[in-house]
Amino acid sequence: MITVLSGGTGTPKLLQGIKEIVDPEELTIIVNTLENDYFSGVYVSADIDTVLYTMSDMINDELWYGVKDDTFITHERLEEIGCPELLRIGDIDRATKIQKTQLMEKVGLAKACEIQAKNMGIKSRIIPMSEEQSDIKIISDIGELEFHDFLIKHQSQPEVLDVKFSNVTPSPGVVDAIKNSDAVVIGPSNPVTSISPILSLEGVRDVLKDTYVVAVSPIIGSDAVSGPASKFMKALNIDVSSVGVASLYSDFLDNIVVDDKDSNLKSQLNQIVNKVTVTNTIMNSLDAKKNLAQKIIESIP
Ligand code: GDP
Repeated sequence: MITVLSGGTGTPKLLQGIKEIVDPEELTIIVNTLENDYFSGVYVSADIDTVLYTMSDMINDELWYGVKDDTFITHERLEEIGCPELLRIGDIDRATKIQKTQLMEKVGLAKACEIQAKNMGIKSRIIPMSEEQSDIKIISDIGELEFHDFLIKHQSQPEVLDVKFSNVTPSPGVVDAIKNSDAVVIGPSNPVTSISPILSLEGVRDVLKDTYVVAVSPIIGSDAVSGPASKFMKALNIDVSSVGVASLYSDFLDNIVVDDKDSNLKSQLNQIVNKVTVTNTIMNSLDAKKNLAQKIIESIP
């Protein structure tokens, strides 16, 4: 069994490669829930839905959000009747969210995800990191912002001074899934807002120490491939580089996968982690995703 820790962009890209070379039944994906909240009357678990759509080949992989070729009739009508939405939710995507909201109220988020994954024909296990509502605040030069306000309304523009999030309890199965895995893959997701929330769950860091862990750096050179990760790392005084990423995971990491462009960092990385894999980590085609996935799987002892 392989367990992947995921956010909603970098790791789903990698999952498109992993699912081509690993038996989906041998795959568990633990997904960040830090940014989950209610919008327009429905529960939005953006990273979980991105993983669900990725694993069922429905993902809009230009935006890494929502369903490809979705329509926006409800969204547009809401705007017309004076009810604009912060998130642009497509019609098919909204159906997923309505179902999840209803299921959640009856059976909780973890079971709701399990039911939806099954309905979408997904053979892998997809576990939300927590069933509890978490709280994340971006402390910026224009004040304290909700995560989605920072990301969407302010387009990640404000200067970030700090990132604060509440601790939550892991969903049932999170710690056991890691414990029973042959390896854990930390995808190239935002180390601050996607991976750290999973690592801060009680028991997770401890079990990772007893498991083979390979992480892919979302930072190449001195910047993130996309999104605000570098701003968040800077605010927390973490070096914006693969070295900074490795140091965040240094207490349990066995192998760090960095891009060819970071080959000059190899000896520095070797002081933090036993094995350093240098390869192309820019996942701009299915072949690139499969090649990266292959390198990761091959590295598992
Ligand atoms: P979010 O939930 O949408 O913030 O997405 P994630 O946390 O899963 O992923 C965001 C991270 O993915 C960013 O820090 C990017 O640098 C990283 N990323 C996106 N595409 C790639 C890629 O092709 N290669 C690598 N190495 N990182 C990527």
